[in-house]
Amino acid sequence: TRDVAEPQDEIELAVEGALRPLSLAEFVGQHKVRGQLQLLLDAARIRQRPADHILLSGPPGLGKTTLAMIVAHESERPLRLSSGPAIQHAGDMAALLSSLTPGEVLFIDEIHRMARSAEEMLYLAMEDFRIDIMVGKGAGATSIPLELAPFTLVGATTRSGMLPNPLRDRFGFTAHLEYYEPEELEQVVERSAIVLGVGLPRHARAEIARRSRGTPRIANRLLRRVRDYVLVHGQSGRAGGAPGSPAATQADVNAALELYDVDPIGLDRLDRAVLDALVRRFRGGPVGLSTLAVTVGEEAETIESVVEPYLVRIGFMGRTPRGRIATPEAYAHLRVPHGDGSLR
Ligand code: ADP
Repeated sequence: TRDVAEPQDEIELAVEGALRPLSLAEFVGQHKVRGQLQLLLDAARIRQRPADHILLSGPPGLGKTTLAMIVAHESERPLRLSSGPAIQHAGDMAALLSSLTPGEVLFIDEIHRMARSAEEMLYLAMEDFRIDIMVGKGAGATSIPLELAPFTLVGATTRSGMLPNPLRDRFGFTAHLEYYEPEELEQVVERSAIVLGVGLPRHARAEIARRSRGTPRIANRLLRRVRDYVLVHGQSGRAGGAPGSPAATQADVNAALELYDVDPIGLDRLDRAVLDALVRRFRGGPVGLSTLAVTVGEEAETIESVVEPYLVRIGFMGRTPRGRIATPEAYAHLRVPHGDGSLR
C-alpha cells in the first residue's frame, strides 16, 4: 500500500512516539484548532468534568493521534487507544466502553470504519454514558442497561464525509486539520533534528520541509532518511561533524530524497502515478475515482483520502461533477504539452 504516509513497522512507531509533542504549546501550526482545544480543556478543568467529545478529521500524518495524546496529557487523564477496524461487533464496543475508568480519554482512529452495531451503541454512550446490553435471542431477548464512567471520546477520520450524521452530531467539537505550510514543517524538522541528534543547517531543513507534502509525519520520515544518508556517506572528506553527530548539507538532502523517489516538490511515486494516469492515459479527464484507482492499482479510499487532497490543494487536480481532471499545472509538472496528452 502506502510508502510515505503511514508508519511502516514497530521501530517506526517507536521513533514516532519519541518525536510526538506532549503539549499544545509544543504542537506546531494549526493555530485555530489549538486555540479551540485549549479553551475546551481549560473549561473542562474548571468544571471538573471530562472534556466534550472531539472529532478530528484530515489526511494521515497531520497530527490527529498526537492531539488525542495531548488532550489526555494536558488534562492528566489516562488514554485508551483503539481503532474502527478493531471494533467489528457491538460486543467489542461494550467491552471497551465498560472497561474505561472515570475521565479516561478514548481515542478511536479511523472511526468511520466501525461496525454499524458498534456505532449505534456508541451514540447512547456518548450522550448519556450508558449502554444497553442485549441478552438472549429472539422473543426472550432483553436489554440490560449499564452505567459507564464518564469519558472523553476523541475520534479521528481521514474521511469525515463517511461519518453518519447522528455520530457526527454527538461530538461537541469538530476540527479539520489542514496541510502545514513549509515554514511550519521547518519547525517540526528543527525540533525532530534536535531529538534525533542530527545537525541540519537551515537551508537543509527548508529543503526537507518543501518536500514533505505538507505533512509532519513525512517531514519526520524524510529527516530520518537524510540522517541515514549522512551516516553512510557523510564521513569522508567533510569538515566538521564528529562521528555520531552527522551534519547534513542541502546536497545530502537532495541525494537522499532522490534515492527515495521524492520529487523536487515532494510528490511520491503514487502521487506521480495518479497524475500520470490522469494526464497521459485519460488525456486530462474527467475520469471517475474508481477508474483512476484501478489504473494505478490502489484502493479508491487511499486515492481519495491521501493522494487527491494534496493534489487538489497544490492545484494539480480538480474535481468536477463528471470526475477528476488535471490542471495545466499538472501538465507542466509532467512536462506534457497541454491539450496534447496522448503524445509523449
Ligand atoms: P495522524 O494521527 O493524523 O495520522 P500523528 O498524530 O500520528 O498523525 O502524527 C504523525 C507524526 O507527525 C508524529 O510523529 C507527530 O509527532 C508528528 N506531528 C504531527 N503533527 C505535528 C505537529 N503539529 N507538530 C509537531 N509534530 C507533529
